[in-house]
Amino acid sequence: MVEEAKNLLDWSQWGRQWIEHLRRHKTLNRELERHLHKFEETFTVIGRQASKLDSTTESDELPVLITRAEQVQEQFHHFLRLAQLSEDEHLEGEVREPVQESMNAQPAVAEEVQVPVEPEPVSYPGAREPVRAARPVAVGRHTLPPLPYAYNALEPYIDEATMQIHHNKLHQKYVDDLNTAERKLAEARESGNFDLVRHWARELAFNGAGHYLHTIFWPSMSPNGGGTPSGDLAAAINRYFGSYDAFKRQFSQAAEKVEGPGWAILVWSPRAHHLEILTAEKHQNLSQWDVIPLLALDVWEHAYFLAYQNQRDKYVENWWNIVNWPYVEERFEKARKLRWEPY
Ligand code: MN
Repeated sequence: MVEEAKNLLDWSQWGRQWIEHLRRHKTLNRELERHLHKFEETFTVIGRQASKLDSTTESDELPVLITRAEQVQEQFHHFLRLAQLSEDEHLEGEVREPVQESMNAQPAVAEEVQVPVEPEPVSYPGAREPVRAARPVAVGRHTLPPLPYAYNALEPYIDEATMQIHHNKLHQKYVDDLNTAERKLAEARESGNFDLVRHWARELAFNGAGHYLHTIFWPSMSPNGGGTPSGDLAAAINRYFGSYDAFKRQFSQAAEKVEGPGWAILVWSPRAHHLEILTAEKHQNLSQWDVIPLLALDVWEHAYFLAYQNQRDKYVENWWNIVNWPYVEERFEKARKLRWEPY
């Protein structure tokens, strides 16, 4: 089977996992439940169609199916925002309108193909990235990703109560506060009043880093986890750290010795082309993980003191005259090819 068809099957399963998650954890009104049912049918139908593509190697159906899946995914993201944000009263009015529109405009893929719609039992193989999401996360529209397993699934290693609070309350709070920071900064751009930019930039970093790291954290664990890595990752670990045991020792030590709250993080450097173990205090200080820098301005005094003394503002103002945009554009073109599922 071609790779894209497999991806579509994964995608179909991903969608049905989401639906399962929403039914378990969200209070949905009849309207939302109706849409949810429709999405369930659509995910199932596209999955079935993708599985039939097995025998037909050179078929026009695949690109059509992928386009449909991308449309459905976009609509589903609208839906998820509505389902999550509708619990948040002060956002309700604001969100309902555009989502409502897109719901009405939804082409009912399921109606075009008559296939039984009984979904297969849902398992939790972990989060995967099936169809590349075309839709960026708009200002203030981050959402809590679902836990890819039950809250008690990691017991006895991590208890259910911890998982409930950690995912449902704490991670949700990072998402909410990140959204607030993004909206406040949008307002500042609108009004031109940047008096609170330092505050909101801190909020952006703390909550954005918190949101992104937790979004990586949940699928990094599994009730079927443990063991050792294989394939290219195992080779890269052996090459750089010497052995898996050496890597594990350093990672554990790094984690144990973070001063105060924080993280141990295995990273890939696109610059050095090797792995590294880094730590973060709190989540950020003052950046977000899971982002790639495109344009950086050094505002240490050593960068400007000889000519500007303490006038950092003059230095910053003049610096815009020498920004090399083609280089930034090139970094952007490369970086934008790396896409994770938006939350
Ligand atoms: Mn946490």
